Amino acid sequence: MPPPRGLDIVTRIQLSVAMPIKQTPLVAQYLKVKDQVPDAILLFRLGDFYEMFFEDAEIGARELDIQLTSRSKDGVPLCGVPYHSVQPYIARLLKAGHKVAICEQTAAAESGVRGLMPRQIVRVITPGTANEELVLAAGERSFLLSLTPGAEGFALAAIEVSTGEFVVTTVRDGLNLQEEVKRLAPKEVLLPGNLANPPAWIASGDWAVSTYEPDPRAAAALKVRFGDVALPDIHQAEAAGAALLYVEGTFGGDLGHLSAPRPYRVSEFLLVDETSRRHLELVVSSDGAKQGSLLGLLDETATPMGARALSQWIVYPLIDPAAINQRLDAVEEFFEGDLGGAIPESLKLIGDLERLAGRVGCFRASPRDCQRIARALKAVSNIKSALDSTPSVAIGQIAARASSLPQVAASIEAAIGDGPPADAHDGNVIRAGFDPRVDELRFLASDARGFIARLEARERERSKIPSLKVRYNSVFGYYLEVTKTHLERVPADYERKQTLVSAERFTTPELKDLERKILSAESGLRELELQLFTKLLRDLAAYIGTIQETARAIGELDALRSLAGVARRRGYVRPILNIGARIEIRDGRHPVLEAGLKAGEFVANDLIVDPDERQLLLITGPNMAGKSTYLRQVALIVVMAQMGSFVPASEAQIGIVDRIFTRIGARDELRRGESTFMVEMRETARLLKGLTKRSLLLLDEVGRGTSTFDGLAIAWAIAEYLHDSGRAKVLFATHFHELVDLARERSRVKNLSMAVREWAGEVIFLRRVVEGAAGRSYGIQVARLAGLPDSIVARSREILANLEQGELDEAGMPRLARERKRRETAANQMNLFSTEQDRCLGELRSIDIDRLTPVEALNVLARLSALIRK
Ligand code: ADP
Repeated sequence: MPPPRGLDIVTRIQLSVAMPIKQTPLVAQYLKVKDQVPDAILLFRLGDFYEMFFEDAEIGARELDIQLTSRSKDGVPLCGVPYHSVQPYIARLLKAGHKVAICEQTAAAESGVRGLMPRQIVRVITPGTANEELVLAAGERSFLLSLTPGAEGFALAAIEVSTGEFVVTTVRDGLNLQEEVKRLAPKEVLLPGNLANPPAWIASGDWAVSTYEPDPRAAAALKVRFGDVALPDIHQAEAAGAALLYVEGTFGGDLGHLSAPRPYRVSEFLLVDETSRRHLELVVSSDGAKQGSLLGLLDETATPMGARALSQWIVYPLIDPAAINQRLDAVEEFFEGDLGGAIPESLKLIGDLERLAGRVGCFRASPRDCQRIARALKAVSNIKSALDSTPSVAIGQIAARASSLPQVAASIEAAIGDGPPADAHDGNVIRAGFDPRVDELRFLASDARGFIARLEARERERSKIPSLKVRYNSVFGYYLEVTKTHLERVPADYERKQTLVSAERFTTPELKDLERKILSAESGLRELELQLFTKLLRDLAAYIGTIQETARAIGELDALRSLAGVARRRGYVRPILNIGARIEIRDGRHPVLEAGLKAGEFVANDLIVDPDERQLLLITGPNMAGKSTYLRQVALIVVMAQMGSFVPASEAQIGIVDRIFTRIGARDELRRGESTFMVEMRETARLLKGLTKRSLLLLDEVGRGTSTFDGLAIAWAIAEYLHDSGRAKVLFATHFHELVDLARERSRVKNLSMAVREWAGEVIFLRRVVEGAAGRSYGIQVARLAGLPDSIVARSREILANLEQGELDEAGMPRLARERKRRETAANQMNLFSTEQDRCLGELRSIDIDRLTPVEALNVLARLSALIRK
């Protein structure tokens, strides 16, 4: 018979802590509970503390920076945190990647249970299912993502537990799966336990990984909660069911705020892969901070919902012109109208209404949360009336989705008093006058306190002990405390309760009577307040859907208003989107770089790129001339336009783009210790796949990481390939000046260059993009600017002159373009080789092995080998 599981874990723990444990009843209870959550840190409620034991205590002490001790009774290592301030500790454990299980006492301390208190796990908090305020970042969604393999790729289901969002999709191949997972940026990925060969990148992501056992009840769980949901395929239903079961199993609360799973298609959005997102610094800048990124620039939202909407729009730009124009219409109305005024202030009062509604949905809202909801709803009402007075169609449509629910706000305000506690168990929740029973108990409790004060005064008087005090503690209740020096004055009717080193504690019949009254009034009051508060939450639960929709609509308005505000201050224009494939930008600017410069310092540039005539723009110019900035600004303008923002230009016509790929810079890979060139080639190989006329490719300095000739050759071949094998729009920046010759050979390649002026032997960067190839590469001038010694600069000039003399061959053809000749030479080599082969074969065939002597055989061998070596 196998050993019972409880014993198993004891042995394990005993081995790990290398000390004998006495199996007290408490330890036995702990081990039984711990056995249910071997992979989580167990917070075990003991009175006013959550304790961690054994290995968990060691981890907890380390992660939380608290004292590790051991229980005197049984020698068990332990550390603990006070129950009322446990939240920050849970947050730290989760952020360090642990799961946390909460085990509570299931009978109240005063319930009179003798001996061991019953205890059970009420919740397991995992990184993807946490909805605690301290764990969540206000402006970010926090997904639990479940993956299920299907017939064609993977089904994905993502639940945002704090907001109740639930989405599902299918991704066909491995590469897109990786991209979509990174785009959702989940906090936890859930895989089927029986998945053969899970992709390696999953284990190394920025998320926790958990597994689930495929469970036939998953589909039923979906149906029970949401009724019939039409999902496009069975695998999506499986993924959604698995995610739901996992959340239901760990969350331990109601999930009344969870929406039904909403399917979306990856192809509904402009795809900017993760590498490009990083290169373009869309949501974080190169140093990892939001500041300095496009999101950092555009985000002037006043609510967390607005911030989340905006960051989602940047990562999921649209491709349907009608949908984009809806957003642009609203931005324009904010842009044109004078909607400053009261709106920003009201928005700030709304706070995170979406997550507040979520906490109501799972019955975890505090009295303070309810008060915030009431305040938010009143602010919604102010915003709606401010918007009603302006003739704004698009804004009006969004505002119509928000409801201010005045009756809900009023009922919260009627029930909850001013300055409510963060925890309903602390009492003082219900407003005076709301319920006569509460008022009565409160009066009793506070009046009894007055009695205590009066009793104390009276007893002092009677006993003539000036330091006599009436005190309270939770073990002994109320008592009269007398210091040892005054003991002889204690009246005869005092009953001794407890003896301390320096004092004695007494009680009297009168005090006992008072104590009973106070305690029953106080506990009755706490109980009643909790009851009323729970009823309030239950009433509010009926409105969760409406409050959530209101919060989301407000978030959109906030995000749109933020876009309009930035656009107005920075002089952006509304882009015109069309279903063509041409992009035309007049006076385009790099939004983030421009914001860091003085007004007018940034040099604006035009762009026309078109798959049919100007498909591949080859941009030459020295380092530091501004090529890379130009490339990035084009991509940023496209992303902005398709997310529904105005753009930094004087005019922009954008043919909808389906994918943006970039190969820009390599600084960050170097930091990660990878070979620049390998990374570069790997990325280039990846982006050559799946291109269409609508794709936009930005290549900066391809081939830089290897020797000049290799690099130039690769850059040239890639450019040719992109021209010949499709019509993706390409901006190709290079300091390989030789590449300009490509335009002579390929009709849709156009040369652009960064204008520089030479003045007194120096180069001055004009930051202007002009048609035509750069006159020369100016590398030496730049080197000189950078302070290389004059002798080196002079010698470089000499060497350059020598090299340049050989740049065109005798026929006047650019050397790199000598493609046909090269092919001929290769063919000749092939011929040579094949005649030798033929002669060898001929000789071998003529041999008669049976008559060959050893010496002759050696001779034949020598002849053959000489032939091949020739
Ligand atoms: P390259 O890619 O040619 O080496 P960058 O695009 O990195 O050059 O630009 C170098 C620097 O020049 C940038 O960091 C920026 O400060 C400045 N710069 C680039 N383009 C402009 C512009 N259009 N207006 C003003 N300054 C610019």
